[in-house]
Amino acid sequence: MLKITHAAGHALVTPGKQSPDGYKEWQVTSEIVKLVMLELENYEGVIQKRIDDPTGKSEIPLNKRCELVNGWGANVHIDYHLNAYGAGWNDAGGTETYMYITKPKEANALAEKIQTNLVKELGFRNRGVKAADFQMVRETNRTAIIIEFAFMTNQNEAMKMRTKEYQKKGAKAVVDGLVAQYGLKKKPSVSSTPDVLYRVQVGAFSDINHARGLGEELKARGYPAIIVTK
Ligand SMILES: [Zn+2]
Repeated sequence: MLKITHAAGHALVTPGKQSPDGYKEWQVTSEIVKLVMLELENYEGVIQKRIDDPTGKSEIPLNKRCELVNGWGANVHIDYHLNAYGAGWNDAGGTETYMYITKPKEANALAEKIQTNLVKELGFRNRGVKAADFQMVRETNRTAIIIEFAFMTNQNEAMKMRTKEYQKKGAKAVVDGLVAQYGLKKKPSVSSTPDVLYRVQVGAFSDINHARGLGEELKARGYPAIIVTK
């Protein structure tokens, strides 16, 4: 069993935290969180929870976020962000992933895997895995990392990160890192189960003649119909 918490930085309503043209950091990070959570549903033994406000309407303070992570007993916490340098467009750019200053072994290994995947998927400059005294990695009890996918003050990176294509690339990098780190296995796929029969109902009639009439019509179009009584 692997309990994972996710948080998109910051909230839609948080001042700043946006590109120079006003596009919010959260508009990108929230989409990546949703894609990661959707994909992780396909893996066995994963329980997950989003600890920011998924509507973006309220900013949950960092100490409260840490309480939620610890109180729920998460094994892994991932914080999703876009970096910024200054307030206008500029050339600062790249991807970086953070862990706490003590460089906890598991967080370090997970951060390295995800960082490597991100650089490969997104193609932005590799700023590396870094250690920092940030609250979200300091005050969470278990493995925690902070991902800065790209710079929202870099026009090229910001525009790319607004596309579904790049959000999917980012999400894939995170999921692949988690799968490799924790040896996650996919749930058996429903569609590959051979003894499932999908039945299509096209009508329900109280008059048997109407049912027979539709049955004949379907047969004439090449669909064998079976009339059943409930
Ligand atoms: Zn941020």
